[in-house]
Amino acid sequence: MSLLELDNISTGYGHFQALFDINLRIDEGETHAVIGANGAGKSTLLRTICGLIRTDQEKVRFDGQAIGDLAPHKRVGLGISYVPEGRWVFPSLTVNENLLVGGHSRRTGLWTIDKAYETFPLLARLRKRQAYSLSGGEQQALAIARGLMSNPRLLLLDEVSLGLAPVVVEKIYESMPAIVDAGTTVLLVEQDVGQAIKFADRITCLLEGRQVLEGSPDEFSSEQIFAAYFGV
Ligand code: ATP
Repeated sequence: MSLLELDNISTGYGHFQALFDINLRIDEGETHAVIGANGAGKSTLLRTICGLIRTDQEKVRFDGQAIGDLAPHKRVGLGISYVPEGRWVFPSLTVNENLLVGGHSRRTGLWTIDKAYETFPLLARLRKRQAYSLSGGEQQALAIARGLMSNPRLLLLDEVSLGLAPVVVEKIYESMPAIVDAGTTVLLVEQDVGQAIKFADRITCLLEGRQVLEGSPDEFSSEQIFAAYFGV
């Protein structure tokens, strides 16, 4: 049994269908990257897993439990943490306060404030700074660290590197091994295909809401990935 199982997911917004028959298995401890062009449905997929978009109960299973119609906060309680696109932090709260808020679910585990600072050393010296005054990269690090504070078994990260300078992206990715070593399963959306391939055990490519490629990155040539990404 995989940690996360999606069966024939077809969802969207009102009459607009954004995803078509998506099937996905993610094993515990795996790192999985979802790639695809703008509008391919990557964020919609993460929203479906975290519960912002509901499906039939049986279509999403987490650790064997059917959760497709479960509310987002209940999924946090089960160990699913979602870090949305756009580096959402509480701007007027300090770095430390943002992390405390992230721990409100009180799921116990390895992740504490100290462990978050150890994993993202750049945040440690900023602990008393209000979040609005951080750089984009620092805010992204804080958003991820806050997501970890709920001690997730599955961490969903949307658009990790969007809008960040390459050197900042490298810094964020330097912290990923510590997250994986802590036993956390990571499913991330990444527009930077090179970065996704470097990081992930498995990749899924979406094209206009359809899954056009899925597997280990070494199974595919860069031409195959390019063709799947652009639909050529
Ligand atoms: P991006 O990289 O641009 O964020 P994406 O792959 O994450 O793209 P989604 O955000 O999942 O794509 O969007 C998939 C489709 O659903 C797009 O056509 C988008 O316009 C549409 N869509 C997304 N959010 C909404 C919404 N709240 N209401 C209506 N349509 C939406």
